[in-house]
Amino acid sequence: MKLIKAIRGMNDLLPEDAAIWQFLEQSIRQLVASYGYKEIRTPSLEKTALFQRGIGEATDIVEKEMYTFKDRGNESLTLRPEGTAGVVRAGIEHGLLYNQQQRLWYLVDLYRYERPQKGRYRQFHQFGVEVFGLQGPDVDAEIILLTARLWRLLGLEQQLTLHLNSLGSNQARLAYRQILVDYFQEHFDELDEDSQRRLKTNPLRILDSKNPDMQSLIESAPKLFQHLDEESRQHFETLCRKLEDAGISYEINHRLVRGLDYYNRTVFEWMTDTLGAQGTVCGGGRYDGLVAELGGQNTPGIGFGMGIERVVLMLKNNHIEQQLGDAIDVYLINIGESASNQALSVAEALRNELPQLKLLTHCGGGNFKKQIKRADKSGARWALILAEEELAEGNISIKTLRAISTIETDEVNHQKAQQVDEQQITIPLVDLAGWLKQKI
Ligand code: ATP
Ligand code: MG
Repeated sequence: MKLIKAIRGMNDLLPEDAAIWQFLEQSIRQLVASYGYKEIRTPSLEKTALFQRGIGEATDIVEKEMYTFKDRGNESLTLRPEGTAGVVRAGIEHGLLYNQQQRLWYLVDLYRYERPQKGRYRQFHQFGVEVFGLQGPDVDAEIILLTARLWRLLGLEQQLTLHLNSLGSNQARLAYRQILVDYFQEHFDELDEDSQRRLKTNPLRILDSKNPDMQSLIESAPKLFQHLDEESRQHFETLCRKLEDAGISYEINHRLVRGLDYYNRTVFEWMTDTLGAQGTVCGGGRYDGLVAELGGQNTPGIGFGMGIERVVLMLKNNHIEQQLGDAIDVYLINIGESASNQALSVAEALRNELPQLKLLTHCGGGNFKKQIKRADKSGARWALILAEEELAEGNISIKTLRAISTIETDEVNHQKAQQVDEQQITIPLVDLAGWLKQKI
């Protein structure tokens, strides 16, 4: 029979990687709690119009990346390709935004019909933050500091660079747009096909082009930075000063325009050169017009989206899994009928006494040799051997399978592990929990 396989670009998270995801998710939860941010969860499906209006018709996402379909009621729905529009919709709908301050975060699955490659998938995940009702630039600095703290928590700070730019006010951006169109129009023949099309729909995105043939043309293009309105210029300078005061280094990147229409003033990206072409790990910026655009009262907003898969790739490059203690502590073996009858209740009693103990109980029977093999394979540090004769005297045996943990794989420790492999002791069952308590 023909196998049914997963959809291209949509990944299974397998047990061997789960510890890394959990470590990242726990770090994120700890981080947002320490900044007083509150979680928001919105549906994966929204009406298509939300993204058309929120993200902008002339963006890559809306033009060619959305999973859009009609439901049985003939309504056009879209799997969310980004997190901000849904949060803004929910904020307006539940009256969370008008005249209020909100600091929100989420961890969500997103869907984009892109060409799958390393660091780019059709279903992926983002950690995002959205802050409403604050003009900045203090809060702009706050969310950047929050991301920088996450890099430190994860040990990635050496591998990421902060890129900053300002897109100015909408008026300044419109005026600049015309200047840019005039410039590229003069060099129309040097533009590639994509950029010729973008010249009409979204000329700022030409600055973002990766085409090597166009780089010198882009380098010489007029800079938005030189056409900023006075308020935006001050906003940006204050932000830069705050980052310097906090010891965060950054690069001003005049070509940073971001792929979504709704940004104004501050935009930023964290980039790495450890992931090849997919080097942007986190991107965000200010979107003061978006709430009004989606039908709410005028409310300033700022946020970012961080690609979880790309952060996981970086953590894997750093072999983080070796530092994550998700190994099993003990494996409970049972030999003989009375032991087999009691095994589950012995295990439950241990879990009552030691909630942090990671305990696997042997299921499925089998002789000692088979069970001890399983115990070893489980990675447990000790095998607990509940055997009929010993149990009759109220005793249990403990066999040490590993010296400390699997981190220490060098020669010396391997020998040490071999030595302790021989160790086996027998103790009264009533002392078992106390014995383990001292060890773990
Ligand atoms: P890119 O230029 O890489 O396409 P983008 O500008 O489309 O990124 P955003 O929409 O700003 O990205 O999303 C923020 C982050 O989400 C990105 O920096 C990246 O880490 C991650 N991301 C975006 N698209 C994907 C994808 N298809 N697969 C995995 N991660 C993604
Ligand atoms: Mg993209």
